[in-house]
Amino acid sequence: NDKGLIVSFGEMLIDFVPTASGVSLAEAPGFLKAPGGAPANVAIAVARLGGHASFVGKLGDDEFGHMLAGILKENGVTGDGILFDQGARTALAFVTLRADGEREFMFYRNPSADMLLKPEELNCELIRSAKVFHYGSISLIVEPCRSAHLKAMEVAKDAGALLSYDPNLRLPLWPSPKEAREQILSIWEKAEVIKVSDVELEFLTGNDSIDDENALTLWHSNLKLLLVTLGENGCKYYTKNFRGSVEAFHVTAVDTTGAGDAFVGALLTKIVDDQSILEDEPRLREVLKFANACGAITTTKKGAIPALPTGSEALALIKG
Ligand code: ADP
Repeated sequence: NDKGLIVSFGEMLIDFVPTASGVSLAEAPGFLKAPGGAPANVAIAVARLGGHASFVGKLGDDEFGHMLAGILKENGVTGDGILFDQGARTALAFVTLRADGEREFMFYRNPSADMLLKPEELNCELIRSAKVFHYGSISLIVEPCRSAHLKAMEVAKDAGALLSYDPNLRLPLWPSPKEAREQILSIWEKAEVIKVSDVELEFLTGNDSIDDENALTLWHSNLKLLLVTLGENGCKYYTKNFRGSVEAFHVTAVDTTGAGDAFVGALLTKIVDDQSILEDEPRLREVLKFANACGAITTTKKGAIPALPTGSEALALIKG
């Protein structure tokens, strides 16, 4: 692949998605086993769009772990970034789909293999070859994977990669909201591209407004692009020199899982080899339209990875 490498760091897991929506886990008639984990979704989103992606993370040396590694490979995610833990099992998430297509999570992590990734186990050579290093995972929550997360960021940054961050707040997994906010903000100023959802914006600022003034309280001087995704209302963008919003596509959402990851994957695929887009508003708006299309398509099917679009599917939606 002659495209610049995008390395996505974090967890991959199995989402158990109820086959009926609007029911509690206990009432679910059955579950669809869907591969997921935001950082893995981003790697596959990139590969499906024809980009060059690697995933760095740890899986259990069990049936699910090997199944997930196979899914990465089948989807064109390359590189030797996956480790298998000999003791712990692959993480599982149970996703409750509400009637409106929004989802809630419950996790099996006591501890799961992803949490046991150690800094000294990282494939630093792979990380050093990244042009974009994306992170945004629950590995910030506990040790030793927190140290692995921080080291991977540092290695990528030292090698000159663009750092991209999606906090993927999973509030119930944190010991307290205070700690979640502090830890997320502790790595905030390392990233040059940050994507937050409206919910994360409200949480991180402690202010329930999604207006520009509030969003810009999250601005920092290293940042090149701050994005706020707004579900069916599209996204807002902020750079040093301009700001605006790009509207969403009209689709019938059945499951929003992975929409944000599709959006991020699309954006990174477009900017990895041409960062000048970040300083060119008309071109950035085109890229965000494409990212919105990728997010929208992902909401039209159940699960995250099965729903991620190809480039031609996204272009078809844009052409209408
Ligand atoms: P996250 O998954 O991180 O919460 P969003 O749900 O805001 O992120 O989705 C990311 C992007 O996907 C949005 O900016 C939007 O372009 C698209 N998207 C999400 N939900 C819908 C929807 N219901 N209809 C159309 N587009 C959507």
